[in-house]
Amino acid sequence: MIAHRARWIFSCQSATKLDVWEDGCLVIGKDSRIAFVGPTSQGHKKYPKAQWTDHGKSSVLMPGFVDCHVHGPQIDMVGSAGQTLLRWLKEFAYPAELKYQNAAHANKGWKKFACALASSGTTHAAVYSTSSLEATESLMAELDRWGLRAHVGPVLMDRHAPRPLIGPASRQISGLQQLIKKWKQHPRIKPSIVLRFVPTSTKTLLELTSKIRQKYSDLIFQSHLAETQEEIKWVKKLYPKHRNYTAVYSDHELLNDRSLLGHGIYLERDELKLLKKFRSSVIHCPSSNLFLGSGLFSLKKVRESGVAVALGSDVGAGTSLFMPSVARSAYEVQALQGHFLSSAELLWLITGAGSKALGQKDSGTLARGMAADFVVLDGAYDPVLSDRMANAKKHEDRLAAILMLSHQSHVKLTCVDGKSVYRRD
Ligand SMILES: [Zn+2]
Repeated sequence: MIAHRARWIFSCQSATKLDVWEDGCLVIGKDSRIAFVGPTSQGHKKYPKAQWTDHGKSSVLMPGFVDCHVHGPQIDMVGSAGQTLLRWLKEFAYPAELKYQNAAHANKGWKKFACALASSGTTHAAVYSTSSLEATESLMAELDRWGLRAHVGPVLMDRHAPRPLIGPASRQISGLQQLIKKWKQHPRIKPSIVLRFVPTSTKTLLELTSKIRQKYSDLIFQSHLAETQEEIKWVKKLYPKHRNYTAVYSDHELLNDRSLLGHGIYLERDELKLLKKFRSSVIHCPSSNLFLGSGLFSLKKVRESGVAVALGSDVGAGTSLFMPSVARSAYEVQALQGHFLSSAELLWLITGAGSKALGQKDSGTLARGMAADFVVLDGAYDPVLSDRMANAKKHEDRLAAILMLSHQSHVKLTCVDGKSVYRRD
């Protein structure tokens, strides 16, 4: 058995229920699941023979971070500034994704992407690949080598994008079908149905995607929704018969409780009703929304309508894969609208809420019997962070400091199923 001791352990059972252990430990059983989480004094008594690691007096152990919306190939052009969404796609995102048609480029890029995810403390991600099936398979293989959890699919598009990225809808869907058959049983890397968004989809592509969605309703479906006003106008023009943007998805039977819709900044009341009806999740990507100037997402409005929300980095429009940075952006976006999120709520959004959206019932929270997916942050070399952690009077304030001040370089260890997928040393 393996035991990790940390100065503080934080975990959320919900947006309002925060568990904290000062001088806590996490013990991993032989089945790679959490055997014990609690005070070190108790853990020591129960498991004296476990192999103990003490992470030190400025360490924090938390559930592994969950990124519910990220574009693998865009790791190459993250931080490309100066454009709003539709021009940004054309000028920066599509050219980056095109390069992944080349196997050597893809292999090199995926290594960088997988390493960046693991070293950011992310243990589980919903990933848009590029449109190439071969490149998507090599991405899945690379994420598997690293030991991460992910939902990955080729990006389906058959119009309004550069030619090599689009192809006949039937060919794309039959390729996706092969990929699903090959990877469906994998314990950590799951195939996903990934439609870029409505403007790059013909009616034929939507219908064929709908068929495969019906057949594999347990897979994660990913797409974008209502990110900018310009995009919404375009959708209205392309699909005038549908009541609204969300209805294009629901009318094609693409929505269920495994559907993740990225952004959703400009959702109307009817659209929220539809998302609630189908129990689909909205993935808020605040760093991306700020960077592209897309708009301010109202978490309060969406949550009050009964629709589940989790967070995504949306790299490359988002500028960091480190989910506490994304949580910080979420805090700022809500604060600008007069709504102040608690630190427990922020931690929940990047852990348990993400696992829930991805249909992963046994991770996202640290508790006995759950998968041992966790991250250890270490503030020892950073006096600003470590003093702030040490001097905070309340755990909520301590957690706020960690989420607001920590950086990717504070990640010391990332584990999935109790196994190290990244170790800073
Ligand atoms: Zn995106």
